[in-house]
Amino acid sequence: MTTCADDTTTIEELRKWQRALRAQFPIVTGHPDLAYLDSAATSQKPQAVLDAVHTYLTTTNANAGRGTYPWANRTTSLVEETRDRLRRFLEDPDPQWSAVHFTSGTTEGLRTIARDWLPGLLTDGDEIVVPVADHQANIQPWLDTQRQLARQGTHIRVLPMPYQHASGDYDHNALAQLAGPRTRFVAVTHVHHVYGGNMNIHRIRQAVGPDAVICLDAAQSIGHLPVSVTRLDVDFVAFSGHKSLALPGSGAVWARHARGPEFVPGGWSGTPNTVGIVSLAAALEWLQAAGTDRIERWTVALAARLTDVLRRLDAYEVLGCQTSLAADSPVQRRQGIVTFRHREIGAGDLGFILFSHGFMVRSDHHCQGGAGEKSESVRVSLHVYNTVEEIDRLLSVLATLG
Ligand code: PMP
Repeated sequence: MTTCADDTTTIEELRKWQRALRAQFPIVTGHPDLAYLDSAATSQKPQAVLDAVHTYLTTTNANAGRGTYPWANRTTSLVEETRDRLRRFLEDPDPQWSAVHFTSGTTEGLRTIARDWLPGLLTDGDEIVVPVADHQANIQPWLDTQRQLARQGTHIRVLPMPYQHASGDYDHNALAQLAGPRTRFVAVTHVHHVYGGNMNIHRIRQAVGPDAVICLDAAQSIGHLPVSVTRLDVDFVAFSGHKSLALPGSGAVWARHARGPEFVPGGWSGTPNTVGIVSLAAALEWLQAAGTDRIERWTVALAARLTDVLRRLDAYEVLGCQTSLAADSPVQRRQGIVTFRHREIGAGDLGFILFSHGFMVRSDHHCQGGAGEKSESVRVSLHVYNTVEEIDRLLSVLATLG
């Protein structure tokens, strides 16, 4: 019997497990002729999330933290329960010493940290590391903080994160050389939204030392692999609910009160997205029951299948790491994202051709920062509902265009 490298689950068991999960996504099963390959932008939702939303809106819908009648109290409790669920999901070792703040997604989460928290950490001459070839959402807010502080007479230095461009990974050795005692804050991404690599966050901690704050953009890792703040020594985790099976416009920031001031989002934030928060609780519960370790194994295997064939087709260039390395590779590991170009067909045209065959992919610049790719590409991004058959069909269409 065939077994997976890092577990005793057989491939056959994994396939059966996946079939049962895929069957829980009505939009997927309702469109067997289409293949949704754009989960990095937004994910599809399982029935359990749709049910939780329906139940909430038809039994308890009210505002949170305001009224004193039962529906309002219940809504307030649901919001608090979601905070606790997220802490458990992230394996928060010290829940009394952390905060959970709900947002509309990763962008708002990172911007809130930059606007409301980071200025309180920094003094004149401090340095921050900015990942200049990652998503714009993880670049712009930090540059805005630098400008805002400069207007008040506090000058901080922005150190561009060094990259190893061929593999789409950070250059951890160069980062270790760059970071010094004034390097107070390091913004990083867990899984790169273009190159698909797991960015080896434990090596970032090794490179920058024990005192620097690390802020993790987990937009492409929450729901795709286990994300444990017991194991990752990071101070912030920001992510989007819509990319992790919850409703659009939901998300959260988790903050550890360990390095620097407490994270207290400023200002009056108004009515929270209660239904989004309810959907997030249901999504996290579903993901935990499914097992993020298995989801990772599944999507990594699909991405490896796609990468390994595609990079042998002369007509295509695969961006980032060229191999799908084994689970324990110290170098780089591709997660469920594969981005590529056809050497002659433009990315927009290729996206259009692929949709004519039923494949929904993303083809543009993927909101990557200025130090990233100069030309457009096609991105295939996977979740647990995607299948081997979808990958094989995609590969056969791509091969005919070679
Ligand atoms: N960071 C990364 C790595 C992303 O992939 C994305 C979305 N593509 C974002 C941030 C922004 O997420 P959102 O639009 O949900 O705020």
